[in-house]
Amino acid sequence: MPKLRRKSSVCYNCGEQLVNSENYCPNCGQENHNRQASTSLLIKDFVDTCLSFDSKLFMTMRPLLFQPGTLSKEYLDGKRVKFVPPIRLFIFLSFLYFGISLVICDQGSICSTDMQFITAVVEFGLLLRDSEYKGTANFERILKNARQGLGRDPFGYRSEFIQLVRKTQRLKLAN
Ligand SMILES: [Zn+2]
Repeated sequence: MPKLRRKSSVCYNCGEQLVNSENYCPNCGQENHNRQASTSLLIKDFVDTCLSFDSKLFMTMRPLLFQPGTLSKEYLDGKRVKFVPPIRLFIFLSFLYFGISLVICDQGSICSTDMQFITAVVEFGLLLRDSEYKGTANFERILKNARQGLGRDPFGYRSEFIQLVRKTQRLKLAN
């Protein structure tokens, strides 16, 4: 996708008259792009740049999902123009992931077991450190999330975590 430019009819550097199609001033070489813009315009430009995809997204997602090695190899071989740039893809997928997680977790019980267990671990850490970010974290909620997030637990590590939380809770209550 070509870079979005806020073009002017006059060069900001040397005052040369510019035609709208010119990306650079023919007199001094400065880019025909006004960098002074409102915050909302900058945010809009950022979102446009990050989230505007065309067929490249499908060209990228198919190998990413089914042949991840191929995508990396093609990219390293220099075949880049048909794929979405990695950072842009990362930002897009992060937005997508967190957007979907928010929607799903907001609906209550459909939240994934892994997500619930991770929440319990993070809250436990914040509570142990007495972090200013702990919010309303408490042992009851940590234990509830950890139990609901237990899943298959093939190696028993999650059960050990629950025991650890219980012991810590007892110690805290004793003090
Ligand atoms: Zn100029």
